[in-house]
Amino acid sequence: MSLPFVIAVDGPAAAGKGTLARRLAQHLGLPYLDTGLLYRAVGRRALDAGADPADPVAAEAAARTLAPADLERGDLRGPVADAAASKVAAIGGVRAALLDFQRRFGAEHGAVLDGRDIGTVVFPEARLKLFVTASPEVRALRRHAELAARGAAPSLDEVARDMADRDARDANRGVAPLRPAEDAKVLDTSGLDADAVFEIALSWAVAAQKAT
Ligand code: C5P
Repeated sequence: MSLPFVIAVDGPAAAGKGTLARRLAQHLGLPYLDTGLLYRAVGRRALDAGADPADPVAAEAAARTLAPADLERGDLRGPVADAAASKVAAIGGVRAALLDFQRRFGAEHGAVLDGRDIGTVVFPEARLKLFVTASPEVRALRRHAELAARGAAPSLDEVARDMADRDARDANRGVAPLRPAEDAKVLDTSGLDADAVFEIALSWAVAAQKAT
């Protein structure tokens, strides 16, 4: 059976992929999955168990017993959850445990999924693959503003450093490293506002829908 309409939105942190993916899903009437939340929840569960999120046994156990309520918890954002997520995400057993859920989510009615490996691993056959990126400086400024708006206020330097560490872990890991799929459309959002990014991506999505 052929895959329903799936849009894969990958890219590094704070490039604008979450905002874009959510808007595309809403506009096109497709379900939306923020796959980063899965890794964040696994990281939190490993921390709850008193484990190091980089410990493969503890992290895999946390991934295998993940429940929908774990995705509703209020502490999945912020620097601690960021770091724990990118540590558990480097573990092959964790990624394998989360793969089925992501594939089933998209295969049922089509979907927009955002993450790091949607176009390369989860849905290599997705009809539209976007790689959303921006300069490290712009991404650090955006993440800093986002944290400040939520009342947390690490310095811009600290935010930039944490982000560089996380980028390096995500791009250099042995399993499903962050990289654009060969046929991904790369969208650099550094000089664009959210509306402009949406208009460009929507035109690609409409063309991809028509082409099938
Ligand atoms: O997208 P978000 O910043 O919420 O993702 C948190 C972390 O989860 C990322 O830094 C990355 O390590 C991991 N992740 C991943 N694969 C995905 C989604 C997220 O490895 N598909």
